Amino acid sequence: MTREPAEPLRLDYLIKAWAIHSMTGRTYRSVGLRGAEVVAVSAEPDGLDDLAGGGTAVVDAGDLTLLPAFADSHEHLKEASANMLLVPVDKARSVAEFTGMVADAARHAGPGGWVLTSMGWHESNLAENRLPTLAELDAAAPDHPVLARRGGHLAVTNSAALRTAGVGAGTPDPPGGGIGRLADGSPTGVLEGGAVYQVAAFAPPPDRVELATALGTGSAAYAALGVGTIREAMINLDELLAYQDARDRGLLAVRVRPMIRVGNELSAEQAIALIRGLGARSGLGDDWLRIWGLKFVMDGGVEGGALEQPYADDPAQSGHLNWDVTAMTRVCTEGVRRGWRIGTHAAGDRAVRTLLEVYEGVVAQTGDLPPWTLVIEHALLSDPAQRERAVRGGFGVTVQHALLWNMGSEMLLTWGPDRTRRVNPLDQWLAAGASLAAGTDMARPFNPMTNVWGMATRGTKSAGIQGPEHAIDVAAALRLYTQGTADMLGEAHRLGSITPGKLADLVAYPLDPLAADPADLASLTPVFTIVGGRPSYDRDKRLTR
Ligand SMILES: [Zn+2]
Repeated sequence: MTREPAEPLRLDYLIKAWAIHSMTGRTYRSVGLRGAEVVAVSAEPDGLDDLAGGGTAVVDAGDLTLLPAFADSHEHLKEASANMLLVPVDKARSVAEFTGMVADAARHAGPGGWVLTSMGWHESNLAENRLPTLAELDAAAPDHPVLARRGGHLAVTNSAALRTAGVGAGTPDPPGGGIGRLADGSPTGVLEGGAVYQVAAFAPPPDRVELATALGTGSAAYAALGVGTIREAMINLDELLAYQDARDRGLLAVRVRPMIRVGNELSAEQAIALIRGLGARSGLGDDWLRIWGLKFVMDGGVEGGALEQPYADDPAQSGHLNWDVTAMTRVCTEGVRRGWRIGTHAAGDRAVRTLLEVYEGVVAQTGDLPPWTLVIEHALLSDPAQRERAVRGGFGVTVQHALLWNMGSEMLLTWGPDRTRRVNPLDQWLAAGASLAAGTDMARPFNPMTNVWGMATRGTKSAGIQGPEHAIDVAAALRLYTQGTADMLGEAHRLGSITPGKLADLVAYPLDPLAADPADLASLTPVFTIVGGRPSYDRDKRLTR
């Protein structure tokens, strides 16, 4: 804090709390905010009283514990927000409800208009515990193309959508994707990986103004759960414009650090041309919206993830790789030379090993790179040798317990119990000395405290406790979710802790997560969230000035 002697500093907010965990090892009792920043902290509740003036809001939070707001290292805020504009099949609890919503949307769509559903659904939430079929979607919407994306790597469609996209029995599988087929080769309507994009390319994108508005609503839902920053894990350039609109209109309730998609449907030449055409590099932007880097996808998700050993439920399958090592090394080297950070989705252990080859190839050409220049996204499965290579190469890893939480049952079926237990072994990564940043990848607002509870217990939604030996303690989980992400963003000097000079991004809870039983964290939600010195969420109007 620099204080001009003539003009005494006056706080905008003086918050007195039960505990203020700075995440630097110190715990305080009061914190002073001015403008967008933390300007003072004190170990005494009354230690900053002399900085309060007539315009200072003094917040009595003696019953609350403050933490730095969560920084999610990998989440799809754009998808979560765009979902609000789409058919909300995530609310359906049976196939009939699902197809009923589709039929209703088709009735309200113009002739031949697309019916697009939210991505945040999963068949495990339907009574039948299966995907809607092509015949069911055809019956619901005979004349409108239907695309129901489920998460980032799978979709179901109807015949009108397949027709519009020109997908039939004779269509070959696209690179990095699969068209589900019956014995005679005709499509089942299930699309995986690149095949999702092949069909989605024919659907109209959301209107930019509408999307910007939705980003405001979507980001507020995350702030209400204690999130202050989201690394946006995949957008295109039109969507970047929508983010700029949202930022300019003052709609963003959280900070956003986007990654720009470099699609695996591109040849190496096309990908290099795309990167050259960006005319920018990592770091462009301001505290609210700053471009993090480029995004590549190496394999699929639980379905389609590239594994070293065959799938448990299909010994003929071990997933797919989307990129050729030589081509991707060329593209990434060009990206890094032009000042880009790169994050690559690699779910399976074969994808992780292949990505390590790519990243090592890049470093061989560029020389040593700053930490977090090359990032492995997810690494759901990895072996000790891969973890050691990642650490030696300086490749950070974003980890999402929420994926195991959400899809544990599916992993048990597809990957088997042994591999499911070993998903994201945070204890092993930390013991190996890895740089980790925690996040969710849920494409819907998800309580970070549920994720912290999961990291500390290995608990899941419907697959019980998986691999309890890989749990880490609550303090370590909170560090990965605040300072870990701040490090990855290259913004540790501004984000991830509560000390003077940091951005005023804080979240307040009615119990102290560091003192509580981890079991009590699973559904703990904030009382308020402050981002950039402004209330982003204020459940009980505690921040009213
Ligand atoms: Zn993702």
